[in-house]
Amino acid sequence: MENWGLITFRETAMLYHEDESTSANKMATIAVIAHEITHMWFGNLVTCKWWSDLWLNEAFASYLEYAAVESVETTWNYFDLFLMTDTLSALTADSSATSHPIVRPVREPEERAYTSAIVYNKGASVLRMLEFVMGTTSFQKALTAYIKANEYNVVETVQLWDELEKENNHAATIKIHDLMDSWTTKAGFPYLNISRLDPTTVWSVPFSYYKSLKPQKLPHLEFITKKEETITVETDASLNGLLKINTNSEGFYLVNYPEEDWGKWIDALVNDQNSILSDLTVSDRTNFIIDSFYLSRAGLLSYETPLALSEYLKREKHLTPWSVAI
Ligand SMILES: [Zn+2]
Repeated sequence: MENWGLITFRETAMLYHEDESTSANKMATIAVIAHEITHMWFGNLVTCKWWSDLWLNEAFASYLEYAAVESVETTWNYFDLFLMTDTLSALTADSSATSHPIVRPVREPEERAYTSAIVYNKGASVLRMLEFVMGTTSFQKALTAYIKANEYNVVETVQLWDELEKENNHAATIKIHDLMDSWTTKAGFPYLNISRLDPTTVWSVPFSYYKSLKPQKLPHLEFITKKEETITVETDASLNGLLKINTNSEGFYLVNYPEEDWGKWIDALVNDQNSILSDLTVSDRTNFIIDSFYLSRAGLLSYETPLALSEYLKREKHLTPWSVAI
């Protein structure tokens, strides 16, 4: 608990013994310490005005704890665990009928009950998406200004959007408030049904993709802001005419490819064509597992697809894709 100047911990979240604790214990311990220290800024120096905006404390602590851990343990690639520790629980909670928006009206303190997977994990996931859209430098600059402008004071979500807007490199295309409103004030999340002719959506979605992986993969970013949107992309022969949509799985949405494309992805991944597995990031590979299983669970894709795709796991050495598959 992040009391200012006197953080309190459960013993299990604080004590680590080199000979007796597991590496998972070590990771959990350092993550909790990083989370509580992050609250010194997000929660204590700047505090949410009311329970409705609790995510301004908890989502920031849950997201920025990754950056804190990475700066101390530089060899861990700690961000590669994000889909396993945050995204998966957020998607599971947010696909249930009892889900609620990240920001929601609370009139009396008695109504403040919330699902921590939404306020903490989905909150962290949408902040990760926002950092991807803005770029790390602009995101950090805006957050520094947000803390400075609101220190020793209380805030509502709109004050965060206003501060981020000042560093919005895409301001000509979309305002931060318009981009983030649906992600924070609606329950659930979108899935993109990709056809080569007519993708449709009612969410403001940062649509990112790679069309080639060599010599290096460069994420392209466009915004889907209308109910119907056609995006024209010339595919590249080096990726067999495929597009990897949702680069590094930064977006909090699912992608359903045309059946033929799922088949090509399965071939490419299972046979590691053109060393595709090492060209994709851990989060990209995990993304295929999560999306295909969740789409099947929702009845939008045959279970044959995720099961066939899972065969690639025989070549997978990272914990995260295995963990989400199991
Ligand atoms: Zn917290």
